[in-house]
Amino acid sequence: MYLVLLGPPGSGKGTQAERLKEQLRLPHVASGDLFRENIGNETELGLLAKGYMDRGQLVPDDVTIAMVRERLQQPDCDDGVILDGFPRTLAQALALDKMLAGTGRALAGVLYINLPDEETVRRLSGRWICGQCQTPYHAVFSPPAEEGVCDECGGELYQRDDDRPETVRARLIVYHEQTAPLIDYYRRARLLVEVDGAGDIEAVSAALLEATRNLMK
Ligand code: ADP
Ligand code: AMP
Repeated sequence: MYLVLLGPPGSGKGTQAERLKEQLRLPHVASGDLFRENIGNETELGLLAKGYMDRGQLVPDDVTIAMVRERLQQPDCDDGVILDGFPRTLAQALALDKMLAGTGRALAGVLYINLPDEETVRRLSGRWICGQCQTPYHAVFSPPAEEGVCDECGGELYQRDDDRPETVRARLIVYHEQTAPLIDYYRRARLLVEVDGAGDIEAVSAALLEATRNLMK
């Protein structure tokens, strides 16, 4: 089952992907995490991506598509995957269709988490992430049991540089210009399922699980 989680930055894609991953037993593939891993390992790709990420811009399509293609070729992706943060442009969406079709696969659905801009800013300004396993927390909405420490793996939590309000504003502009058109693209392809992202984490999770079960019928 190949699923895409679509939505503005801060809408809860990473939070929900971690839950869906357990429920559906599928790997969670987040393009942002792959870039941050490359930055951590000081690869050439990481160096290139960092410049764009620090400005809140998208990394160019060719390198992003190549990176995700390589990830999807790993054996753990053979039965499906939960994509988070990819595709983010029409060119990436077309490339994904092609990648899957090339091996006789297709998207089962696109789960669109809808959230107003004011709320995404509030969420991102309080976001803390585990440096080891990438689990997201929120200072108010989803705090860890012990401040600064990951509940899952004991890793140290940090705040992303690009979650500063000025970079978040740039990311939202990019989202509306380049990524939001995918909502229509997938609606026309009859793949889009819209979920209200404004509820609490449990409510959004329940809505997504029901949407996924409907897709499996
Ligand atoms: P995305 O992956 O879409 O950028 P995240 O999953 O990292 O978003 O969530 C952004 C922030 O909002 C995190 O701090 C997370 O803990 C918090 N969060 C996620 N979902 C909810 C929710 N339904 N209600 C309140 N806070 C949430
Ligand atoms: P995310 O972790 O999904 O919020 O992504 C963080 C940053 O990584 C984005 O602001 C972009 O700079 C970059 N990025 C992640 N995914 C993509 C993508 N599919 N296309 C281009 N850039 C991306």
